[in-house]
Parts: sequence; C-alpha cells; structure tokens
Amino acid sequence: LYSSLSNQETVLAGDSSLTIYSFDTSQSSVQDFVNEHIKHSDLHGKDDAFYIVNLGDVVRKFHLWREKLPRVEPFYAVKCNDDLGVLQTLAALGTGFDCASKAEIAKVMNLGVGPERIIFAHPCKTASHINYAAEHNVQMTTFDNEPELHKIKRLFPQAELVLRIRADDPLAVCNLGIKFGAKLPEAKRLLGVAKDLQLNVIGVSFHVGSGCTNASAYGKAISWAKEVFEHAESIGMNLNMLDIGGGYPGQQGAPITFQEIVDEVSPALDKYFPQESGVRIIAEPGRFFAASAFTLCVNIVAKRVIEADQVSQDEDGPKFMYYVNDGVYGSFNCLLYDHATVDVKVPPIYVPSELHRASIWGPTCDGIDCISAKCWLPEMDSGQWLIFEDMGAYTCAASSTFNGFSRPGMFYVAPQEAFEQVRPTTCGMTRTTSASTDEGVSLEDHLMKEESVTDGEEEMVMSCAM
Ligand code: PLP
Repeated sequence: LYSSLSNQETVLAGDSSLTIYSFDTSQSSVQDFVNEHIKHSDLHGKDDAFYIVNLGDVVRKFHLWREKLPRVEPFYAVKCNDDLGVLQTLAALGTGFDCASKAEIAKVMNLGVGPERIIFAHPCKTASHINYAAEHNVQMTTFDNEPELHKIKRLFPQAELVLRIRADDPLAVCNLGIKFGAKLPEAKRLLGVAKDLQLNVIGVSFHVGSGCTNASAYGKAISWAKEVFEHAESIGMNLNMLDIGGGYPGQQGAPITFQEIVDEVSPALDKYFPQESGVRIIAEPGRFFAASAFTLCVNIVAKRVIEADQVSQDEDGPKFMYYVNDGVYGSFNCLLYDHATVDVKVPPIYVPSELHRASIWGPTCDGIDCISAKCWLPEMDSGQWLIFEDMGAYTCAASSTFNGFSRPGMFYVAPQEAFEQVRPTTCGMTRTTSASTDEGVSLEDHLMKEESVTDGEEEMVMSCAM
C-alpha cells in the first residue's frame, strides 16, 4: 500500500509549493489515503483533523463541464473554496476565475493567471478594490445599481461592465436575489445611465441562487437576458457577453442534478444566444468544482454516554454524544451559512457493530456547535475517527479558529492520469521534483513533518513545502 501511495510530486503554486500524492487507481483509492493517515496518526499519537483533497476530482469535473456545456467557459467562483490546490489545478487547466475582492484577485494572479481570465463579479465593490482591479488591468466587473456606475466612472472608466439582472430561483438554498440583481425595468434604465456616462457595458449576468433547486430558473434567466440584449441594441449598445452565474451542484444527492441544469441551459442558449450570434458565454461555478473533492476526517476527542434511564420516553434523545475536533465555527460553518446537511461515515478500518443513536458536537464551548443532532453510529471511542465526504464547498473558506481550535491540514492526492493534466505548462505551475518511493519522502515522512502548526493556511504550506 505504501509504495502505491508515496509517489509524490512537488509543484510550485505562486509563492508556495504543494505536495501532491499521485496514485494508480487500479491499486489504491482516496479511501486508502484516509485509512493510511488515520493509522499513521494513531501510531504517532496524533489527533489533528485533516482533509484529503482529491485534485483528480477537480480535473474530472472540468472535463464533465467541457463535455456537457462546451460553449460555456467556466470562471471558478473563488469564494466557494480558495484552497491553493484547487486554484492551482483550475489555473493549470485554463479556467477563468470569479473574484469578489482584491485579495481573491491577488491570490489568483499570484498563480500566473492573466487579468483577462478574471471577472470581478461583485455588484457593490469597495473603492480601493476597484482601484486595485484597474491597476492590474482586470477589466470585467459586474454592476446592478446606479451609484456603482458613478463610482466606476470615477475610478475605472475603461472597465468592461456586466449588468447583473435579478433572476433567482426563490427556492434556492442560498437566495442571492434578495441582495443583488436589477429587475428588468431597472436593468433597462441602468443601460441608459451607462450609455449617458459613456461606460462600456459588454454583457449581462445573473445568478439563480447558490444551491439552485429548480433548473427552469436558468431558462427563464437566459430569456430575460435576451430581452436586455435587445433593449441594449435598441438604444445603440452592442452587448456580446452572457454570464450564466453559479448554482450548479457539486455532489451526489443535491436537490437537482447537473444534467437537469444542462438540459435546461443548452436549449435556452441555442434558442436565445445561438452560436452564430457570436455572444461569448461564461459561467461562475463554485460548488460544482469544489464540493466532492474534499473528504474531512475528524477525531473523537471526548464522549458522553447517556444512560438508558436518562433517555427520554419517546426515545428521541441520543444515547451517545461524541465531541470531535472540527465544528460549526470551523469547516461545518456550512451547516449555518450554506444550509448544508452532512452525512457521517465510519472508517472501514473499524469492525462494524450494532448501531446506536448518537449526536456529534464540535469542539468549542458553544451549544450551537452541533454537527448532527441525531444520527446512527456503532459505539465509538475517544481517539477514533469519523469521516465526512463532499466537504469542499463553503466549508474551509469561511472557517475560524474560535476557541483556539486549528483548521484541519490539507493533503492533496490525484490519480496519475489526472496529475498529468495539471502538470505545469502555464500559469506558473512548475514541477520541481518527482520523488519515487526509494529516493523520495514517503507519506509517513510527510505526516511527521506537519507537527506543531496551528493554522490551516500555514499548515498547508508547511506540510507541503519540503
Ligand atoms: N457567482 C457569484 C456572484 C456568487 O455570489 C456565487 C455564490 O455565492 C457564485 C458565483 C458561486 O455559486 P455556486 O457555488 O452555487 O456555484
């Protein structure tokens, strides 16, 4: 097992370097890395929570996107997960990036991504961030209100503007329409204002809502965008770009499938923006790329047993309470902010046994820090591990170290074939070493080196830069 896991490659990603463990899918799997990491931690008395990040999954998603929506250029929404491994992989594959702030623009450009591959997709921008975009020639940016137009006129009059219309799925998990997007009459008026200000409006964008549950929202939004294009033409403006936003699911079990959205989007594009129209189509997928690549493993740091005579009559209470070392102030903030639900799994290294009612709690002193109020688990012990899959979207990106609990470290893996595709050619991704089992640093050595670090970002760099 070790020899199949320890084929490692070190790549530069901007100012940092990443270690990626490439593996042969006929011999091992992501689960093997999880098992190996757990065994190693147990052997060395370590209990830090960790992520196994399968960059091959990001590559797979890229090809799926290209196959299903060949006309639509993905601009990855960095806010979803700004992990360097994910960004570097997508940069090497050639996607664009949707950035919401100066820091996101800087992070992506530091990987060698050119300004033409970035859209500053925030309709209400901080002035100094607009200045930064202007200084770095990041031309494309969104707007949805008149004061923003005046601000842009003052700070960055050459910007290429994209008018964000309101076209939300009211049932989306995260409704963005309550905050952003101009309704059609207002959108048309704004085009007139932009024209009077002699600003360069190049297109229309929308976001149906993150975690969209209703594919027809895309078709409707595309038809509304067409109406805005026609109005623009009627007042002498020529739009040539459509941005169909985010909201594409990234994991199994989402309320709708990616295919359902494809089945809605493709015919709508063909109808309203056919190839011959010459309109460039882009999108801002976030969770689509990030969600399923991340597997989180947490350690049970404490356990409380609720005796049978204390369990309520209706048997609704948990029998075992498990306290683990990541929670809603960390990766599981998705339970609060992203309205996510998570499924716990028991590592297969443990012998299966009878299931009991249980609840799972994060490590902080706050009662809200509950990961699962009720689930079914075999009886576990302190020191054992639990697994949560599909933990890549809106998790580590918004986690804190509240109460002094560190963020989990990141460990990157990729099937050999996938690694070949993210091999550095462009974007500053430079392979510096290729260590084999005999001459290189094994996973075990790598794990030994990531001791005594406290923060996720720091940890990633320290554990990867060897
Ligand atoms: N674009 C914008 C402007 C957003 O606000 C978001 C998410 O909030 C996204 C793209 C990404 O959405 P998702 O992760 O659902 O694809």
